[in-house]
Amino acid sequence: MENCIFCKIVAGEIPSPRLYEDEKMIVIRDIEPKAKLHYLCIPKTHFALLADMDEEKAETLKYCFRKIAEIHKELGLQDGYRVIINQGENGGQTVPHLHIHLLGGEVLGDF
Ligand code: 5GP
Ligand code: ZN
Repeated sequence: MENCIFCKIVAGEIPSPRLYEDEKMIVIRDIEPKAKLHYLCIPKTHFALLADMDEEKAETLKYCFRKIAEIHKELGLQDGYRVIINQGENGGQTVPHLHIHLLGGEVLGDF
């Protein structure tokens, strides 16, 4: 997807160290962390919203969640973490490439 910052990161056109990568997803640090640890899990396939999900994308998201569960300790999230997917304008989504926020490394406040 042209002009999508996360597609550019996935493609390596914008350098961003990957804490995890496989054929379906990457995990990077959020550039403006909202917690002591703040990661973004970014599926390699471009789609903006959960509403745009077809079977294949649903499989990709399922894969991402299972992988997060598998690697969360390696990311320092062993004491718990928060998972957020912002959707659209009211949801505070600023990058229209679906991504999963992982926040932790400390006790998080209410939101
Ligand atoms: P959203 O607001 O769409 O749910 O989340 C987008 C997130 O991407 C924000 O938390 C923002 O700080 C992060 N972000 C935006 N541009 C970049 C970037 O170039 N690199 C990284 N690592 N994070 C980014
Ligand atoms: Zn994209």
